[in-house]
Amino acid sequence: MSKLVPPHGSDALMPLLLPAVERAEALQRAAGLTAVPMTSRETSDFLMMAMGAYTPLTGFMSHDDWRSCCADMTLAGGLFWPIPITLSCSEDLADSIAVEDTVALVDQESGEIMGTLEVAEKYAIDKAFECHHVFRTVDPKHPGVAKVLAQGEVNLAGRVEAISEGAYPEQYQGLYHRPEETRALFAEKGWSRVAAFQTRNPMHRSHEHLAKIAIEICDGLLIHQVLGALKAGDIPADVRVRAIDRLTETYFVPGTYVQAGYPIEMRYAGPREALLHALFRQNFGCSHLVIGRDHAGVGSYYGPFDAQHIFGTLPPDSLVIEPLKIDVTFYCYKCGGMATARTCPHGNEDRLQISGTRLREMFSNGEDIPAEFSRPEVVAVLKQYYAGRASGG
Ligand SMILES: [Zn+2]
Repeated sequence: MSKLVPPHGSDALMPLLLPAVERAEALQRAAGLTAVPMTSRETSDFLMMAMGAYTPLTGFMSHDDWRSCCADMTLAGGLFWPIPITLSCSEDLADSIAVEDTVALVDQESGEIMGTLEVAEKYAIDKAFECHHVFRTVDPKHPGVAKVLAQGEVNLAGRVEAISEGAYPEQYQGLYHRPEETRALFAEKGWSRVAAFQTRNPMHRSHEHLAKIAIEICDGLLIHQVLGALKAGDIPADVRVRAIDRLTETYFVPGTYVQAGYPIEMRYAGPREALLHALFRQNFGCSHLVIGRDHAGVGSYYGPFDAQHIFGTLPPDSLVIEPLKIDVTFYCYKCGGMATARTCPHGNEDRLQISGTRLREMFSNGEDIPAEFSRPEVVAVLKQYYAGRASGG
């Protein structure tokens, strides 16, 4: 019988999305309230709370939780939580809102009312303190730091009620699975040990190799795609979904994997973000998370294996989910197959490694992509995407 890991810090999932029958009335009430705009990152965190992925959070964090998260990776009450989940607004807007007011939360990009917040506290933060702890840098060129620095001056804390999940459920039908849904899928398959494979890339052979190592040692695999905002130059979600569909149809055994997407916006916080990724995968019902090279990193802010090492520094019982730490993967011509730095004794001259930047250049120039690097079915999808971009389509 299937026995999945428990949600984080709670016996049951705690989605904040109102039942469908209550949403129309809630929306009508919210339309009359003061509107607080949410940035794309804040909206993505809101959606994670709505679907239950951030169980057991009940809303945006208070000052004490924020500070404790930054400094000690726990909520003020002691529960493990590696990254602050906060909502900010301008000083003028904050002045017009009183503690105990209920405000409407509006997605800045779509203008849609997403839910409401019962304001329990208004507070200012030391942004450099947050960035130093969470990102290990205060460099404004770091995309996650830049977003914190651009936040409003006042944070609003309190309980959230979600009225809408925006365009996601419609746009990604069959892929937008909430934690209770992935858990039901795993249980139906009789899985207990489930590995999550996080991806914000189309899957090339190195990713396929990582995914298949996980399938070898667990009951099944969750291929979990980031559907939220990425940085410039990344492949859009719909193209990635097509590429991964082609790959799995042809090269994966049916019944060994589940595909899903979720709405987080990457912070690129490297090790700290790897911990958050593990935490909410536990809520999705996963017992393991694949952590490869430079998980959730950007540029050269983090060492290639910092995101693996940080798991070893946590107090026991921080998380039930465990990292599956895997070394750099590549095709080795001398080994004659896929390998990792742990299993291949050969040098760089025998290994096929192509950087993301070089790969984009190869696609843009119409160069051939070696079949040892990426499956032809995946390459075909990506070529079509790059050709469309070149023609302005
Ligand atoms: Zn080798």
